[in-house]
Amino acid sequence: RSKDAGGGVFHAYEPQLHVDAEERRLLEIALRKALERGELSLDYQPVVDAGTERLTGFEALLRWRNAELGAISPAKFIPLAEEARLIGPMGEWVVRTACEEAARWPDDIRVAVNVSPEQLHNPNFVAVVAQALATTGLSPHRLELEVTESVFMREGTGALKVLERILELGVRLSLDDFGTGYSSLGYLSRTKFSSIKIDRSFVTAAAKGTPEALAIIRAVVALAGSLGMATTAEGVETADQLTLIRSLGCSKIQGYHFGRPLPVAEARDLAIRTRPAIRAA
Ligand code: C2E
Ligand code: MG
Ligand code: MG
Ligand code: MG
Repeated sequence: RSKDAGGGVFHAYEPQLHVDAEERRLLEIALRKALERGELSLDYQPVVDAGTERLTGFEALLRWRNAELGAISPAKFIPLAEEARLIGPMGEWVVRTACEEAARWPDDIRVAVNVSPEQLHNPNFVAVVAQALATTGLSPHRLELEVTESVFMREGTGALKVLERILELGVRLSLDDFGTGYSSLGYLSRTKFSSIKIDRSFVTAAAKGTPEALAIIRAVVALAGSLGMATTAEGVETADQLTLIRSLGCSKIQGYHFGRPLPVAEARDLAIRTRPAIRAA
């Protein structure tokens, strides 16, 4: 997903992933076949409660492994899929697969699914989500869709309507990578997000002692709290970062400190192991 060129002051410099014309052509040809060839899979990264460190859910992260090209990073192929208009069918597959897999986890463990703006500009997406819930039996409140600020930048209210209808299904919404886009607070009052995800760049900068990053995290936590929303800190990698983030009052935490994205079987094992009170499926 492309982050805006302007970036935030604290956004760690991420060189624009350079994909030249030829590489891009090859990737696109391969990507068109990835779905039917079964080259896509989902890994699941633990999300834990900041206070208790108990597992509350996983974020589903798309993986693509091609026989010739090897593993390709989502930072590279997601923007390509968006431009090549492949994100619709790929995104449907992600929603269905994540719901199927999460339905086999203990029933207090949630799954978060990333959704591209393009998907939300397609009214049919609501039916895709409803259908995935119906066929898998996953409770709607266990599904959370992650959207970024960029969804609000396009003209028209189509995406807002889709988000409202998704909320009516009982599905949760979270605002991903908060602070890295063209942030506007208006839509925070218009859309009922359950949670704001504070981008890793703020966590990193705050832990280095950057006062402005600290101030921004404090402000976001306060704002979210007064709007009845939770906050999730992304990219917590060390015990020191954890201590700091916890002291700033974030509700949930995600990052390598607790776990990297895991293959589905390992994620399920972790969920079952850490929730001993839950009956085996
Ligand atoms: P995201 O939604 O912000 O996901 C978090 C990214 O940060 C993931 O990268 C994750 O592996 C990485 N991460 C988590 N904890 C840490 C940490 O402690 N340190 C560091 N350095 N990184 C951490 P990943 O899996 O490469 O995904 C990159 C982006 O691709 C995602 O960012 C999301 O925007 C997009 N993406 C992934 N899967 C999907 C999908 O199914 N659909 C759509 N539309 N986008 C997806
Ligand atoms: Mg995400
Ligand atoms: Mg994120
Ligand atoms: Mg992020």
